[in-house]
Formats: sequence, C-alpha cells, structure tokens
Amino acid sequence: MRKVRVAVVGAGVVGLSTAVCIAEAIPQSDVTVLADRFTPDTTSDVAAGVLFADEFPDIPLEQQRRWFQRTFDHLLAIADSPEASPAGVFLCSGCQVFREVPDDGKPFWSDYVLGFRTMTDKELRRFPQYKFGQAYTTLTCECTAYLPWLQSRLVKAGGQMKHEKVTDLHQLGQRYDVIINCSGLGARDLVGDGEVYPVRGQILKVQAPWLKHFVRVSDGQTYIYPGMAGVTLGGTRQIGDWRLETDAEESEGIMERCCLLEPSLRGAVCQGVKVGLRPGRRNLRLEREMLHLQGHRVPVVHNYGHGGWGITLSWGTALDALQLVQQCLNEHPPPAKL
Ligand code: FAD
Repeated sequence: MRKVRVAVVGAGVVGLSTAVCIAEAIPQSDVTVLADRFTPDTTSDVAAGVLFADEFPDIPLEQQRRWFQRTFDHLLAIADSPEASPAGVFLCSGCQVFREVPDDGKPFWSDYVLGFRTMTDKELRRFPQYKFGQAYTTLTCECTAYLPWLQSRLVKAGGQMKHEKVTDLHQLGQRYDVIINCSGLGARDLVGDGEVYPVRGQILKVQAPWLKHFVRVSDGQTYIYPGMAGVTLGGTRQIGDWRLETDAEESEGIMERCCLLEPSLRGAVCQGVKVGLRPGRRNLRLEREMLHLQGHRVPVVHNYGHGGWGITLSWGTALDALQLVQQCLNEHPPPAKL
C-alpha cells in the first residue's frame, strides 16, 4: 500500500504537535511540515509557555477541559522523565492574584493542575494591592527547547520539514492526500479567515535566579515567570496591533509593574525584549472540510486560533486533529495509485 502524503502547514507548537501525533499514530503516513518560519522565529518561541487558560466562549467546556488535561498529562510525563531538560518542560509553582474577588469561582482547569487552592491571608499580605489569590503548581514548556525536541521526535517517526510559504491550499492539494492547517495568525491570509486577529505581546527576559515562583495578575497584563535560563516579565495584550518592533516605553511599564509585584526585581539585569503576535480568535478553529480539486477531493483539517493558550492546549487539540484525519482517511481513502 502506498503511503498517505500528509502536509502540515505551520511549525509552531500547534503544527509540530499535530505532525508528531499523526506521524506516530498512522505508520502508513508520510508527514511533511511546511512553514515559512521555524523555531526560534515563531510566535510559540516568544511565549513563556506556562500552562493555564481562559475559556473560549462558544466551545463546550468539556472539550476545553479535555484539551487542557491531555496537554497537561503529556507534558507532565515529559517533566517526570530524563527528557525534561532537553524538551524544556518542568513543574512550576506560584500564584494568580486578583484586585477583586472573582464571581466565577475556580477556573475550568483547576482540577488538572496540582494542588490548586485559595491563597491564605498571610500569603496575600505579600501583595497588598490584591484582595484574592489562587496558588497552584502547573507546568512550563519553553518552546525554544520544546520545538527542536518535537522536530527530532517527528524525524524519528519518519516525518520531514520543508521551508515553504504556502499561498494556496488547492495547489498543495495537488501534492498531498491530506492537509492540516496549523498556520496560526497566517490563516487570515492563507484561508481568508477574517475572524483571526493579532493580540500583540511584548515581554522582557531578565536574569533573576533568586526568583523561583511565578506570579500572575488575573488581567494578564503583569506576570513574572521564572524559566530555565532567565525570568520572563510581561506583558501586553494589544488586540489588533500588528507591530513586531519592540517598544521602549512599554518595556519600562512592564518593568515598573513587575517591580511593584516583586520589588527584588529592581536588581535584575535585562537580557532582551521580544514581541509576538498571538493568533486571536473568538473560538479556536478545529474542524475538517473538503477541498474540491479538478478530478478529486482533498480533506483539510483546520487547527488554529489558539490565542494566548496555544502551548496549554497544543497536545489536546493535536490529538483531536489526529482523530479528524483518521475519520477523513476512513471515509475518503486516497486513490491507490499516484
Ligand atoms: P505560531 O507559533 O505562530 O506558528 C504558526 C506557524 O505557521 C509558523 O511556523 C508560521 O511560519 C506558519 N505559517 C503561517 N502562515 C503560513 C503560510 N502561509 N505558509 C507557510 N507557513 C505558514 N501560550 C500559552 O499556552 N502559555 C503562555 O504562557 C503563553 N504566553 C505567551 C506570551 C506571549 C508574549 C505571546 C505572544 C504568546 C503567548 N502564548 C502563550 C500564546 C502562544 O504563543 C500561541 O498560542 C501559540 O504560539 C500559537 O501556536 P501556533 O503554532 O498556532 O502559531
């Protein structure tokens, strides 16, 4: 039987996770990742990579819980193995603090992280401007290490990577039997999806090896995430802003806000500033459709629009994308001859 030629467009955390899931689960597949940017130049590389999420408004919570849990379990197994350091995955403990007590209780993922609880008054005293807090242990997945690690895993499973800007899925359909669209913000142009928009994020990397706990303010505008080689300070969430240049005034603001939360940062040395454009969408898109080409049809599975939670949901959504690919292949097996 000939191999099923699978094209995955996108080499961020979503594309590479999806490619690995397919290559490992469907041995008769020949998976190629096509992208115009690979690590370290993707949006995924900019993220601190801490696992937590907000809700997508119109996606059943059960599904979002499953995406979170599957990603958490997959990464926890890596964190608990000798692969933890090369993959850039590790447990991290810390807290999220709120200016007002929230109405909506626990977040939907509170049962999947470890030791989720309300902070004590004594703990909150460290943050006098905040009235409420949640403490938990979650995972950090640093994509500057994790993406190269996923690439090696893909190659081991027989997959390959190709530097190519895809401008037309129909053209791609002439060369492949199945297409997976993991183009993130690029889906705006690639499939004309006007619902995808940029949410600009600027962060600072600083040297502060004494910091071991993360702190996040619930509005997502201020956070301190200790990582393997430095601490990420954030951030900004600028909807509709396409600027990739760094902004010195914003860096000052980030530093100022983070120092108010954690005064010891006043002594920290700044190592660099980065900007990334999150692939914003009201709801992420995970579904299949059929491309009609001359003489044949090619299934397409879309998996993009993860917003600020792409690392958090990457493995869970990749497993659902794999399931859609399997359904497509069962219902429309590719022609036996090329
Ligand atoms: P990307 O990483 O953008 O990858 C898209 C890929 O598609 C690239 O390879 C690109 O080259 C390719 N592509 C696009 N169009 C085409 C085309 N036409 N032809 C060929 N290739 C194409 N998430 C978390 O879960 N936790 C966090 O702590 C976190 N922090 C963040 C902090 C910041 C400052 C930012 C900016 C983001 C953060 N995120 C976080 C969000 C996370 O980074 C994104 O959700 C995630 O990177 C999206 O992954 P992706 O693979 O969909 O997109």
